[in-house]
Amino acid sequence: MRITFPHLGNAYIAVESLLRGLGHEPVTPPLTNRQTLERGSFHSPAEMCLPFKISLGNMLEGIDLGAESVLMIGGWGPCRLGYYGEIQRLLLEALGKEVEFITLEVPRGNYSRYMVHLQKLTGSTKFDHLRSGASLSWAKLNALEELEILALQTRPREKKRGATTGYLQYQLEQLRAAETVQEVEEILSTASRGFLRLRAREQNRPLRLGVVGEIYTVMDPFSNLRLEERLGYLGVEVVRTISLAEWVKNHIFKKALGLYSLAPLRRLAAGYLRGFIGGHGLESIARSVDLARKNLDGVVHVLPLSCMPEIVARGILPRVSRDHGIPVLSLMVDEHTGEGGFQTRLEAFVDMVQRRVGRLGK
Ligand code: SF4
Repeated sequence: MRITFPHLGNAYIAVESLLRGLGHEPVTPPLTNRQTLERGSFHSPAEMCLPFKISLGNMLEGIDLGAESVLMIGGWGPCRLGYYGEIQRLLLEALGKEVEFITLEVPRGNYSRYMVHLQKLTGSTKFDHLRSGASLSWAKLNALEELEILALQTRPREKKRGATTGYLQYQLEQLRAAETVQEVEEILSTASRGFLRLRAREQNRPLRLGVVGEIYTVMDPFSNLRLEERLGYLGVEVVRTISLAEWVKNHIFKKALGLYSLAPLRRLAAGYLRGFIGGHGLESIARSVDLARKNLDGVVHVLPLSCMPEIVARGILPRVSRDHGIPVLSLMVDEHTGEGGFQTRLEAFVDMVQRRVGRLGK
């Protein structure tokens, strides 16, 4: 089958290998751009959150390229992700797009429905082929996140402005073309040395800010207006609190086996939130407390407009900030967010944190 899927940062590199391993032809939509968002927004109900609109735009672009099927992840719980897939399927149908819609979600009792979707994907693929595709995809997912983290550490220390972003792009292209796990490992080891060469010898201690929030807007550079890159150029080392590989491990594998527990997050968020409120709301609070305990200089919280779990978190974060003495900036994004205002808010926050760090002699 020719299968398209929505973008989430650079995850397409791993998804392409997975689909090939399953014997399908991946139809990767163009990287998300203004047109994707405009097209997705045009066909979406106005009140839907930004990730819904962008992913719908990605699907439409993938279908334009000849995709016969759409792969989407689903979910359940108090946020809207649970019905994304179904609404998008109906919208595509109403637009006359004749595609098969495959939604993968963690089974909640209904294992037979889950197996039907899984079988559509695995089909008659031989086990060995499937296993090597899955390992290559898993290796690429972990490697791309490691490359991104190396870039986050290098950018505030780089000798030549922009060199890190260019080098990261180059290594991601190599990773995309890799055909074996060994090649992936070689790329990673070359890149680790390469990133070190981009750093200046004399370095001041960069500010360290943690980023928390809704997973899509945290991980997708288009929707967060290249937040990590902007912070890097302001001399900030960004510390990620969300990893897609971790998410897959916890929410697809561990949860399906009943091995995933929210207890560690609940303990961190004790006194602020009692439990799961959908999306990454609980994580945003728990991780902010954790970042404060690890003595980070500040927290940047990103959320899409109208995202219920993160709106709850945004209401609580000022208290976390006061109690733990850590500055927090919440940034809400949607299709109308302007770059100028966004940049000004980041600069003002970084300036305030820098002065605070100087005052405290950190
Ligand atoms: S977490 Fe927020 S942005 Fe993500 S699907 Fe749920 S409501 Fe939408």
